[in-house]
Amino acid sequence: MLRVVVVGGGAAGFFGAIHGAGDDTTVTVLEAGREVLSKVRISGGGRCNVTHSCFEIDQLVQHYPRGSKELRGAFTRSTPAHDRVV
Ligand SMILES: Cc1cc2nc3c(=O)[nH]c(=O)nc-3n(C[C@H](O)[C@H](O)[C@H](O)COP(=O)(O)OP(=O)(O)OC[C@H]3O[C@@H](n4cnc5c(N)ncnc54)[C@H](O)[C@@H]3O)c2cc1C
Repeated sequence: MLRVVVVGGGAAGFFGAIHGAGDDTTVTVLEAGREVLSKVRISGGGRCNVTHSCFEIDQLVQHYPRGSKELRGAFTRSTPAHDRVV
């Protein structure tokens, strides 16, 4: 059994924890604040519009005119379809 500790219960910490957890791996998230995911809760006016419901990468990056080039790699590795686990 592998034990992983994630420091910080924000979006990045939970993304890592969800993807790191498995049958042989337990993940513990340590959060210094009173609540986890507090910034996610206020993102996009409470709707957390991190990605769009669009599964074609070429089409998806067009929703981010100021970051389309940088996001192409990240979206290729992890599409909005992967986010459905949350
Ligand atoms: C008002 C507002 C609106 C936003 N709107 C959008 C939006 O519409 N769309 C969008 O995509 N993004 C939006 N964002 C940005 C998005 O919320 C952040 O990019 C995202 O939350 C960053 O996640 P993170 O995990 O990197 O950092 P954080 O969310 O900051 O998480 C880090 C966590 O680690 C904890 N921590 C720090 N140090 C320690 C320690 N030593 N031990 C334990 N815990 C520790 C902190 O308390 C915190 O909970 C918005 C942000 C704000 C503030």
